[in-house]
Parts: sequence; structure tokens; C-alpha cells
Amino acid sequence: MSTTITVAKGDGIGPEITEAVLRILDAADCGLRYDFIDVGERAYLAGHSSGIPPEAWTVLRRNAVFLKGPITTPQGSGYKSLNVTIRKTLGLYANIRPCRSYHPFVRTPHPDMDVVVVRENEEDLYAGIEHRQTTDVFQCLKVLSLQGTEKIVRYAFEYSRANARRKVTCLVKDNIMKLTDGMFSDMFRRIGREYPDIGQEVQIIDIGTARVATQPSRYDVIVTLNLYGDILSDVTAELAGSVGLAGSANIGDRISMFEAIHGSAPDIAGRGIANPSAMLNAASMMLLHVDQPSKAEVIQNAWLRTLEDGVHTADIHQEGASRQCVGTHDFAQAVIARLGRKPSSLRSADLRSGTNLAFEYRRPPTKRELCGVDVFVCDDCTTPEALARRIEGALDGVLRLKLITNRGVRVWPDGFPETSCTDHWRCRLVSTDADVGTTAYPPIGRTSIIEALSLLERAGIEAIKTENLYLFDGQRGFSLGQGE
Ligand code: NAD
Repeated sequence: MSTTITVAKGDGIGPEITEAVLRILDAADCGLRYDFIDVGERAYLAGHSSGIPPEAWTVLRRNAVFLKGPITTPQGSGYKSLNVTIRKTLGLYANIRPCRSYHPFVRTPHPDMDVVVVRENEEDLYAGIEHRQTTDVFQCLKVLSLQGTEKIVRYAFEYSRANARRKVTCLVKDNIMKLTDGMFSDMFRRIGREYPDIGQEVQIIDIGTARVATQPSRYDVIVTLNLYGDILSDVTAELAGSVGLAGSANIGDRISMFEAIHGSAPDIAGRGIANPSAMLNAASMMLLHVDQPSKAEVIQNAWLRTLEDGVHTADIHQEGASRQCVGTHDFAQAVIARLGRKPSSLRSADLRSGTNLAFEYRRPPTKRELCGVDVFVCDDCTTPEALARRIEGALDGVLRLKLITNRGVRVWPDGFPETSCTDHWRCRLVSTDADVGTTAYPPIGRTSIIEALSLLERAGIEAIKTENLYLFDGQRGFSLGQGE
């Protein structure tokens, strides 16, 4: 039975490597039919700011699987990344990036490495919510949800179990971002209890990345947030030999997308020298996903055998280990010529499925109480003391000013003159019943916030943004100011 998949050849080296990969898929008789869509540079230039015309969405939503060549994202603030738009719009929540060593056929400082990065794919700083709020201050919101986090953590454990992996490492920065990254690591520990057969550890992303770069064989499956995973998976791909080798799967509940982890490589586009391996590895993951493990295995084995035979593209070519330096087309022909053969010393492809995961989220019952508001004020010619006096005078007993921070650090009360301040002040207003000097937050009414804002406005204090403060089952849903 044939499966129809959506294919976009992409930009730069995209068409060269996609055509090479489709030739291999056809030669292996995978029984695939292709619906081609035109997304990327041409769509951007035709005025579609996300690089995708409306008719392409119809095709994408019709087929369950999308094989995508790399896309060039034009520079400039008028353009949104097509990759991020597709991942978020189609709910492709998990990004799986395996990187293993092909030593001694591909040069790598780490012959034992075999790491899979499971990256959250829809949230974090990639929510793309950015604002310039004052003359001085620019902000990008980091958005994490309970359901998004539960889903990616569960996926990492399920993937590990299905693929006989022994350990999952969670990489976060929860010593600094206690609410967001802290929720991610708490979730990892909670869900992890359901998988006692799998080793588990939490590490801080900075030392974790340093160790991945120097001792990757200590790691097996890594689960992490969107931005950290994006950076880390390029590190692991380069460590394994080249970004030209690593493929990735973007998994959603209904639709999934498979692509190389590298970009459109404009520096070598059109020269016929790009390595199609990353896209071929993505296509093998796709074959597994559409339940064709035997075809995936045949292609993987032929590809490994090609590497072993020293038929290499320029990015992995090395004197001594390589026999032939070939271009994209001849590399694909070499793989086709080896279909049905197995590697003699590289570990043979042992492909399992396990990337499909049905998931149902139930929101936990939670008591939410309003207990204050952070009012962000723009003022470029004030001192913390003068601003505090103006706010206290304006509030007229409606709410109480608890503290003022600038770039997150307390500057009132008891600030230091050494702290350098911008024109962006966070003023925390709480109930007049709150005890000064404690971190208890009695509840307030919603109308008191509106009243306070209008009093501030009347006093000429410009609020540029507010953030309500809530207790969830009595626990603070906001961080304390540094020094609070
Ligand atoms: P890149 O990954 O395109 O290239 C980085 C380096 O790796 C270049 O020297 C390139 O020649 C080399 N390289 C990449 N793929 C190769 C291959 N298959 N064979 C041999 N060498 C290869 O990164 P970049 O130059 O930073 O980005 C170029 C464009 O790609 C940008 O517009 C960027 O936004 C886009 N991009 C797209 C994706 C995607 O579509 N998923 C991912 C990353 C970057």
C-alpha cells in the first residue's frame, strides 16, 4: 500500500539533498507518493511573512507526514521563521535529534558517543513574544505550560523505553529560573517515578553542556527546553562529525515532520557537494514512523556501508580514512548501489519504533488567589526614592507599594547607589494588610488593581505593563525580587 507524504525541497542546498534522498527512497521501493509544496524563500518574497502560502497548509494537513528540506529565513524583523511557525501551528511538540559516532570512518573526538536530544518544540523563548517596552528595555517572554512540559518529559521516557535506552538526563537552569525551569525539573522527577526501569538525573544546563561536549558517552537520552535543545543538538551533531549527518523528527499527535538539523548552507548551495546524509537519516526516522522499519533498516545499512567503504562527501572527507570524495549525486548513487548490504564493523542499524505517543492532559484542580500586581513603569529621570514617594502619594491607601526593582534587583527600599538603573521599573503593589518585611501576600480584589492604575495615571506615572500576582493552592506563582 502506498503512503502519500508532503515534500518541500527547501532553499539553498535543499533541492540537491532532497532529490538525492527521494532517489534513494524510490530505489529502495518504499512505495511513497509525494505531494510537493513550495515553501520558504519564494513564498517569503511573494509576501507571505511566515514563508508559507495558504494552499500549502491544506496539503500539510491532508498528509500525516512531511519531509522538509532546509529553509532560508530572510534577515529582518518582518519575517517569522517558517520552521517555528510549522512546528507550533501543527502541534509538533517533540523534536528528536539522535547523534552517534561513526568512528573510525568519520572523524570524531568521541568514538563512543550515542546521544539522543529530545527537545521541547513549541514553547520557551520560541513563543516569539517580544516587545520593546521602553527606550532602554527589550523583552522576550519565556512561556512554559504544564501540559507542554508533561508531554515532552513523558515522550522522553516513552522513547527511551521503546528504544531500549538506559538513562534520561534532564538539563535545565532551575537554580536561576525557579518557576519555569523549576517546574520542568519537578515534572521530570514526578513523571520519572513512573519509569523506575530507566536511569534518571537532573543537571544544570551550563555544566551539562560542557560535559556533553567533553564526555558525551556519559549521556544517553537528554530532555530539555526548546532553546537549550536547539543549541545542544548542534553541539552533539558537530561532535559526531558534521551537522551534515544528523536528522531530526518533529512529532505531533496527528502530523509529524522530518528534516535535517542543518540549515540551507547558502555558502555551498548549487555546487552539488552537500552531504545528503542528515536528510537521509531524517527520512529513515520517517519510514519508522509510517511503520516501514524494514525499509528504514535497509537504507540505514546501505548508508553505513557507504561510510565504511570510504565514499565520503567533502564535509567528512579525511586523508587516510576516505577513499573517494564525492558530490551529492554520486553519494546517493553509492548508497543505492549498496541497498541490501550490511556494514561490516559499524553497528548495524537497530531501528525500533516508539515515536508515536497518545497523550491526554487533565488540568489539576487548583485554587488561584489574586494577591498583588507588578506594575512596570517607564520613567527616565527619576531615582528609586523619588519614584517610591510619588507612587505612595498617588495610591491613597488603595494598595501598598512593597518594593521596586530594576532589571529584577531591588532598588527600593534599601537599594544600593552602585546598582545601575534603566528607565524600566517594576513596582510591586500588594494589599494594605500585608506586613512590611515579610513575604506573606494577603488576597486583594481585582477592582483594586484598576483603581490603583487610574490613580497612578492621574499622578502622571506611566504604567507600560502589568502582571497580576497569584497564589496557587497557597504557593507563590511569581518569583521574589532579588533582595526581597
Ligand atoms: P547551516 O546549517 O546552513 O550551515 C552551517 C555550516 O555547515 C556551513 O558552513 C555549511 O556549508 C555547513 N553545512 C550545513 N549543511 C551541510 C551539508 N548537508 N553538507 C555539508 N556542509 C553542510 O547554518 P547557517 O549558515 O547558519 O544558516 C543558513 C540558513 O539556514 C539561514 O537562513 C538559517 O535561518 C537557515 N536554517 C534553517 C534550518 C531549517 O530549515 N531547519 C535550520 C538551521 C538554519
